[in-house]
Amino acid sequence: MPSPDDLRTGARATGTAAEAPAVSVREVTHRYGRGADAVTALGPLSLDVPAGAFLVLVGPSGSGKSTLLRLIAGFERPSSGEVAVHGGTPEPGRQAGVVFQQPRLFPWRTVGENISLALRYAGVPRAERPERVEELLERVGLAGTARRRTWQISGGQQQRVAIARALAGGKDLLLLNEPFAALDALTRERLQEDLRTVSSRTGITSVFVTHSVDEAVFLSTRAVVLSFGPGTVALDVAIDLPRTGDEDPDGLRGLPGYAALRAEIGAAVRDAAR
Ligand code: ADP
Repeated sequence: MPSPDDLRTGARATGTAAEAPAVSVREVTHRYGRGADAVTALGPLSLDVPAGAFLVLVGPSGSGKSTLLRLIAGFERPSSGEVAVHGGTPEPGRQAGVVFQQPRLFPWRTVGENISLALRYAGVPRAERPERVEELLERVGLAGTARRRTWQISGGQQQRVAIARALAGGKDLLLLNEPFAALDALTRERLQEDLRTVSSRTGITSVFVTHSVDEAVFLSTRAVVLSFGPGTVALDVAIDLPRTGDEDPDGLRGLPGYAALRAEIGAAVRDAAR
């Protein structure tokens, strides 16, 4: 039983068992198409994402990772079973901020205007928006870039703006579909480090899709490997690594536990692809 103090002091960030999960997926299946052309992409699959968790979905292409993310975002409805976000039916744009592989910024707007628009949709008064834009840009390592055009910044910076825009909505759930896959290796590592820090410090719940086993171990508090079509849970493992937001990334990657988790998840992904 949680004490009243536990409830007051924001157990949300630690995701205690006493609390309802941020995301609940119950016996879900998903089919695309009808009749002879129907493809069962997913399930049956059940999983809970506790508030404050950083869950990474990892698995081979076609294992239903994007489908599961779309169901949680409310872009699709399951063919059977139930998906709930904070106990309710997910609706696009309502409960979660979403980040895609491509930044999808408005090219005719400045960096700041792209974020300001999201703040407007979130109901933030106009007078407060410039300060909030600066705060969000600072949080993703882009302080002072508000006046730049989106085409004047690099692909990695654009993706940082996309993350800031997703955070601008003030939602406590972030859904990310291979957001770093199109970036060069060095930029990708930097963004992983910054996203890990943002997640550790804010306690925002995240569900992140990737092909990369290393990315899964580095970013997550829990990794779920999906098996190849229709996707089901092949492995569900807690990533019990230090997470204060101040870790040295190289030190983290050098931990013996890190290598062991990489090996375990890598083997499961290889098996899942067979
Ligand atoms: P992943 O993200 O793991 O690569 P997806 O969720 O994209 O997997 O796809 C899972 C399966 O569903 C694949 O067989 C894919 O071809 C199929 N699929 C995905 N989207 C559609 C769609 N819009 N129409 C028909 N089939 C689809």
